[in-house]
Amino acid sequence: MRETFVVGNWKMNGSRETNAPRLARLASGWKVVAGRTLAVSVPAPYLQQAQAALTGSAVAWGAQDVSEHASGAYTGDVAASMVTDFGGTFAIVGHSERRQWHGESDARVAAKAKAALAAGLTPVACVGETLDERERGDTEAVVLRELDALLAALGNDATGMVVAYEPIWAIGTGRTASPAEAQAVHATLRARLAAFGAGDVPVLYGGSVKAANAAALFAMPDIDGALVGGASLDAEEFLRIGRA
Ligand code: PEP
Repeated sequence: MRETFVVGNWKMNGSRETNAPRLARLASGWKVVAGRTLAVSVPAPYLQQAQAALTGSAVAWGAQDVSEHASGAYTGDVAASMVTDFGGTFAIVGHSERRQWHGESDARVAAKAKAALAAGLTPVACVGETLDERERGDTEAVVLRELDALLAALGNDATGMVVAYEPIWAIGTGRTASPAEAQAVHATLRARLAAFGAGDVPVLYGGSVKAANAAALFAMPDIDGALVGGASLDAEEFLRIGRA
C-alpha cells in the first residue's frame, strides 16, 4: 500500500499573525491516520513558528525549496539541514515557480533533491508541462525528462522521494486537470518509477485542487494525494482536502 500525502504550499504568503490561527486549526483538526500525511510547506522564516505550533500534532511541516549545497557562501539560500534543525521533514524541490522565476534546471532540481535526502528530508519533487507543451503533445516527454533527471541523480535513493505532477497550466489558474487527464500522466510516471524499482514512490497531483475536486482526483489509481497551493491557506478547506 503506497503512502498518501496532502501537502500545502503556502508560497510567499503569511505573517506571524495570520499563520498562528491557521496552524492552530490544523493542529487541532487533523488526527493521526496510518499511511496518510497532512503537511504544510511554509516560507523559511516561519519554520520556527510551524515547529512551535505543530510539534505534538499529527501535521508535518517543511520548506518550499532547499539549496543543493550543504553550507557555504550561497547568500540567501537555505540548507536542507536548516530545515531539519526546525523539525521540518520534507522540502518541495523543482516547483514550476522556481524553475520559471529562478531558472532552475532539471540537473539543479535533482541536485536539490539529493541534498534534501542527504539531510534526512523527503524531497517532494515537482514535474509538469506548460500549456504550449501540452498542446504540442509533449506532456509525456517533458515529465519523463524531468523525472529521469531525478532518477539519474538519486539512484537507489529515489525510493525516498515523493513526486508531484503539477501541470503548469493548472497552477493557480482555477483550471484543474480532469481526473482522467491527471491519471494518464500519473500512470506514465508510475510506469517509469516502477521500471526503476521505485514503484511505491507516492505521486501527488497539484493544480487548483480544492475540497470540491479532491475526492474525484484521489479516486484515480495512481494519484496518491495532492500538492495544494491557494486552497491550503484556508485551514478548513485544507482539512477537507486532507479528509477527502
Ligand atoms: C502549487 O503551488 O503547487 C499549486 C498547485 O497551486 P494551486 O493549488 O493554487 O494551483
